[in-house]
Amino acid sequence: MWVVPEAEIAGLMTPEAAFEAVEAVFAAMARGDARNFPVVREALGHEDALYGFKGGFDASRLTLGLKAGGYWPNNGTRGLINHQSTVFLFDPDTGRVSAAVGGNLLTALRTAAASAVSIKYLAPQGARVLGMIGAGHQSAFQMRAAVRFGSFEKVIGWNPHPEMLTRLADTATDLGLPFEAVDLPQLGAEADVIISITSAFSPLLLDAHVKGPTHIAAMGTDTKGKQELDPALVARARLFTDEVAQSVSIGEFQHAAGQKTISADDITAIGRVIIGNHPGRGDADITIFDGTGVGLQDLAVAAAVVDLAKEQGKAVEVAI
Ligand code: NAD
Repeated sequence: MWVVPEAEIAGLMTPEAAFEAVEAVFAAMARGDARNFPVVREALGHEDALYGFKGGFDASRLTLGLKAGGYWPNNGTRGLINHQSTVFLFDPDTGRVSAAVGGNLLTALRTAAASAVSIKYLAPQGARVLGMIGAGHQSAFQMRAAVRFGSFEKVIGWNPHPEMLTRLADTATDLGLPFEAVDLPQLGAEADVIISITSAFSPLLLDAHVKGPTHIAAMGTDTKGKQELDPALVARARLFTDEVAQSVSIGEFQHAAGQKTISADDITAIGRVIIGNHPGRGDADITIFDGTGVGLQDLAVAAAVVDLAKEQGKAVEVAI
């Protein structure tokens, strides 16, 4: 099997390669060539940790495997980041393990790639102002991918903890874009594209805040109970996601679906837009992409990085 250490990923994986891998696997899901397996997520009762698996099989690229990992809130005291994961790939012809790949940076890159794919297909024409809600670890990756694959001229941002906004300001400066800290009504009125990436458990962006045309990539909600958007905003938007079943169970759309103001039939898998099977934005004023994070995204970027690592002599071969 091949081992690609976490420390090598930054020098191997590019945002372009992550974007291509995620776009391709969303398309494979829509064609019925790739499927995600049921997610396992358990509280360990040890170190307050949440641990789980996300797996799947993409028959079009012969990618089989799982990401194992989760959230260890006390890791800071050990000098480690709280989210820890590793991706394992298997040979679908034999069942033998073929690769173990550090999954921490890959998770950030594949999550940012998903919202960037949604922006490519769903942003209103001429989108110039990017609005960021959230200023944690993921937010910088989100902004970088959106700016790389969009045509933004300005970034505006809000965070529930204003002391963290320096991350957004520094990232925008690094990207050569002006940044302005604003309140949520201004953000909703001015931004053409909004990315929300927080750990919120109650709505931050309200229906009254958003003046269209706007595309919203809701990326923070990946667990039952989390919530970033007002369900009334969800109810009046055209809805897209990575995987419909996941969006109504652990994604942002769980709340509006629970209140029965939307149903699963109102939600389109973004892969259908990518393969030309759905028109996407059409005449909608507001579009929302619920990025719940599927295992196939992890497998797609891990397979891409294994290829790059082998090409560049950075993969370590071990017998198991
Ligand atoms: P982080 O801990 O670095 O930052 C947390 C962010 O949420 C900050 O903006 C913080 O101000 C805000 N926040 C914290 N507690 C809050 C609360 N109670 N109410 C409102 N806001 C609060 O986290 P991160 O690594 O940047 O991840 C952000 C979110 O994205 C998390 O919920 C994480 O689980 C989620 N995530 C989703 C995916 C996906 O595929 N959809 C992938 C990775 C992470």
